[in-house]
Amino acid sequence: MPGGTLTDNRELRHRLESLLAQARQNEQVLRRFQEAELRMLGIGGLKELLHYVLLELKDSFELDTVTLALIDPEYEVRRMLIDLGIAAADFPGLIFLDSPAKFLRLCGTLLTPVLGQYNAASRAPFFPPGAAPASIAILPMVRQKKLIGSLNLGSANGQRFAPGMATDFIARLAVIAGVCLENVTNSERLKHLGLTDPLTGVHNRRYFDQRLQEEMGRAQRQGYPLSCLFLDIDHFKRINDEHGHQTGDCVLREAAWRIKGQLRSIDVLGRYGGEEFAVLLIQTDSDSALNVAERIRLSIADQRFKGEEDAAVAATISVGVATLRDASRAPNIGALAQRLVAQADQALYRAKHGGRNRVAGGS
Ligand code: GH3
Ligand code: MG
Ligand code: MG
Repeated sequence: MPGGTLTDNRELRHRLESLLAQARQNEQVLRRFQEAELRMLGIGGLKELLHYVLLELKDSFELDTVTLALIDPEYEVRRMLIDLGIAAADFPGLIFLDSPAKFLRLCGTLLTPVLGQYNAASRAPFFPPGAAPASIAILPMVRQKKLIGSLNLGSANGQRFAPGMATDFIARLAVIAGVCLENVTNSERLKHLGLTDPLTGVHNRRYFDQRLQEEMGRAQRQGYPLSCLFLDIDHFKRINDEHGHQTGDCVLREAAWRIKGQLRSIDVLGRYGGEEFAVLLIQTDSDSALNVAERIRLSIADQRFKGEEDAAVAATISVGVATLRDASRAPNIGALAQRLVAQADQALYRAKHGGRNRVAGGS
């Protein structure tokens, strides 16, 4: 075989091998992206999604920083995190922006991905303080033509992201992250609506009953006391009759917030029925519960309520208190929960019959 052909063949084989290696690498990259997308699409809750995007994605794509910058002008997502008991400190890569202005300045109105060197002046808002990756990709997330935030990738390798690089895969990843984020926040919103009383904004009976079971279990395992208050506004029918139903609604709303104002964030408040509320005081013995109940009673009786058209309405509330002292040997949590609620209800009955605007203890 002539020497020239041999060299040509060798070169061809080399090129073929390098093309095959490239194809294998592309296939691996594609598989990694597909895996990430499928994982995200399978996630049903906000906390799990944040965990995946902010912590796991970083490792699977060998990145040094991954952040999510969310535009949250009404503080809705931030409130959702609090409601779900998600500590923002667990996710330092989660960044909230009050308006899209910083994005628009950086990405322009076309909202195309921005790749390149990290530049503290324009790019710092998209990374937590202290993180200064060498190269970055800022990938806008758009839902229904509205910018909701961006997925931001940072690498210590200055060559990892450079202007002009193909962005198809990472931009698609950001689109999927945006869809998943929208899905989980919508589903958390629905769950929240199903557990909230629309008139007063406090939780409803369904939520209270669920938490009662959970808290009974926890009190039993950890051996601490749990107290329950039943509260009922006195002569509420009269308030409605004398001042109208709208003013009755104003009194209910304000009463709910006064009650809430006397509780700690760990306590549970639910509107139990029309003008009845129920409270669970976590890790609270009978004496402390009686004190809280008395504070609530005063907060209602001491100050008139603003009704419709500024009518100042006087109202009082009766409170029944019951405490679960030692549940450690109780075999049936459900029956125990029912007993605690029944005792608080009986105590409320005594408070009513004792003359209203008072607190009565149970056992
Ligand atoms: P008591 O001191 O014995 O508790 O007397 P009461 O009048 O408060 O009790 P009763 O159970 O007879 O009346 C409760 C009233 O609360 C009747 C109902 O029309 C009214 N109510 C229930 N839900 C609402 C509501 O959402 N808004 C308003 N304005 N009134 C409500
Ligand atoms: Mg009632
Ligand atoms: Mg009443």
